[in-house]
Amino acid sequence: MNLHQALTVLPGVGPKSAEKFRKLGIETLEDLLLYFPFRYEDFKVKNVLDLEDGEKAVISGQVVSPANVQYYGYKRNRLRFTIKQGEVALAVNFFNQPYLADKVELGGTLAIFGKWDKTKASLTGMKILAQVEEDLQPIYHLTQGVSQASLVKLIKLAFDQGLDLLLEENLPQVLRERYQLMPRSQAARAMHFPQDLAQYRQALRRLKFEELLYFQLQLQLLKAENRDFKKGLALDWQEEALEARKAALPFKLTSAQERSLGEILQDMKSGLHMNRLLQGDVGSGKTVVAGLAMYAVHTAGYQAALMVPTEILAEQHFESLSQLFPDLRLGLLRGSMKAAEKKDLLSRVESGQVDFIIGTHALIQEGVNYHRLGLVIIDEQHRFGVEQRRILRQKGENPDVLMMTATPIPRTLAITAFGDMDVSIIDQLPAGRKPIVTRWIKHEQLPLVLDWLDQQLQVGAQVYFISPLIEESEALDLRNAVALEQELAAHFGVRAQVALLHGKMKAEEKDKIMQDFKDKKVQILVSTTVIEVGVNVPNARVMVIMDADRFGLSQLHQLRGRVGRGDQQSYAVLVANPKTESGQKRMKIMTETTDGFLLAEEDLKMRGSGEIFGTRQSGLPEFQVADIVEDYPIVEEARKVASQIVADPSWRQDSNWSLLAEHLTEKDYLD
Ligand code: ADP
Ligand code: MG
Repeated sequence: MNLHQALTVLPGVGPKSAEKFRKLGIETLEDLLLYFPFRYEDFKVKNVLDLEDGEKAVISGQVVSPANVQYYGYKRNRLRFTIKQGEVALAVNFFNQPYLADKVELGGTLAIFGKWDKTKASLTGMKILAQVEEDLQPIYHLTQGVSQASLVKLIKLAFDQGLDLLLEENLPQVLRERYQLMPRSQAARAMHFPQDLAQYRQALRRLKFEELLYFQLQLQLLKAENRDFKKGLALDWQEEALEARKAALPFKLTSAQERSLGEILQDMKSGLHMNRLLQGDVGSGKTVVAGLAMYAVHTAGYQAALMVPTEILAEQHFESLSQLFPDLRLGLLRGSMKAAEKKDLLSRVESGQVDFIIGTHALIQEGVNYHRLGLVIIDEQHRFGVEQRRILRQKGENPDVLMMTATPIPRTLAITAFGDMDVSIIDQLPAGRKPIVTRWIKHEQLPLVLDWLDQQLQVGAQVYFISPLIEESEALDLRNAVALEQELAAHFGVRAQVALLHGKMKAEEKDKIMQDFKDKKVQILVSTTVIEVGVNVPNARVMVIMDADRFGLSQLHQLRGRVGRGDQQSYAVLVANPKTESGQKRMKIMTETTDGFLLAEEDLKMRGSGEIFGTRQSGLPEFQVADIVEDYPIVEEARKVASQIVADPSWRQDSNWSLLAEHLTEKDYLD
């Protein structure tokens, strides 16, 4: 056996179930071994006297009253009995699981997982445990057709067959010794079947280090390539023409825009390969800076491409660049183009009759050939990882690359997360902007907000509603959003058209709904958080975020940034009843400042509280087990080690590091 074999080599896995596992990203045996739980349930037996009200825990004790099942109505029923743990007697209730009565034997001992109700001194049972269960039960992300039980069974099977022993070590001995890291196969086993918390933590530490070290190595290798003079373009742009363009703008650039543009221009002029990240809060004026950089490239006799995540954003940029540069030849590449139209555009691009080309990922993927491509700008970079950056530089003449992001990331973190790139920051908004007014309300005050929304709708405002995020389950996430849409539609009736946008929709569907919203055919747009950011609908002036305390500050700031794009006053309403101090603090800070960088710094400080969901959409790279914010100390250590390793030009020949080189080559990160 080898671990690259498909899952179907396991007994009991046919093509049909393999298809289901594929949806979880599990295709090979190795994928299965490395498909880690995202959390654990603690099944260690607790003392009932130590439990807090509402806590879920395992209680064990002796059954001291016979099981009694009561029925109500058509199907509902309750199984009741009493157990004694030490000297404490407590009532146990199971709802609608009458068959469990068979397991309840007077005088016998049971371990029950349930929820403790302190005032009633009773446990609402969720599960009767077999006598010898592990203390920590892994919980996996699931998909339609794959249950916890079936996943656990398959993983157990793989480990029982000893497949974990085939997992190859990918960290050199010296590093494992230096940091006391357990072997890879041992770590994988401990993730699925931890003996105790301490062992799990050690396993996690090892896997995080592994993941972050490889990430840092990739970054450092890219960076080293960027420093190679022979490999970059030296663009000789025309100073005077550029100055004239700037002077013709309807406004004066802010000093932060000037500084960033200067940094970009300098990079482009030098023979170094530019790989720069342009950061600026929503509305800080990145587009103009990008446009001027593109124009500079044009004066040097090269083409420039602007790549964005969605078609609707592509259109938006096409429009604003057409306004800024009416005399240039702009092309918009769209997926929905007719074949003839597309062919015509592509041939004009190839023969150099197009100066700026704007589009989605198709710009670099399909057979798009450029006449002389000098600059590629990538907007909202968060789905453009280090891997894509590497592919891009292998295209054509190795054009300069500028990435733009509206997510404010503190500089220190940006350097670790995007170590191969230089960073420019527009940390200043153009004068005269109206800050978004942010209010925090409790759920019970929602009716007041709905009344106020009616007034807003009457004066023509449009509204975003963000439905609560349920990280564990996409299905629940969606159900929540649908429910919210229906409630709002029922509430507003003919007074507003309500539409729903969610992550499971096809790109065209999403674009269609966004277009309807832009065209004011829809007044209230309900969406899950997994949808695109960056779309500009100036008339959308109100953003309501449900269960706002589930989000980190940066994410809330991103969401809020979708309003406040027109001249009218905009509002953000955070609906939340936070249970923790940190949750309350976050809500309060949001109402007090609109400074994205300040919020990002606060976000960093408050991370690790464990109650904020993932780094998704925060603009930072995502990992399987590591979190670039929470694991910052490991990130830093990995960065140090990686740069020490690659600092020696002949590191690949060093027997200490050959293992790393091998794995990087296998993944195509090295030639
Ligand atoms: P973002 O950084 O979010 O992409 P945009 O580039 O879309 O921001 O700019 C937002 C708005 O601000 C645009 O309407 C743009 O014309 C305007 N703008 C950009 N720079 C300035 C400036 N220096 N002074 C005044 N308005 C500006
Ligand atoms: Mg923008």
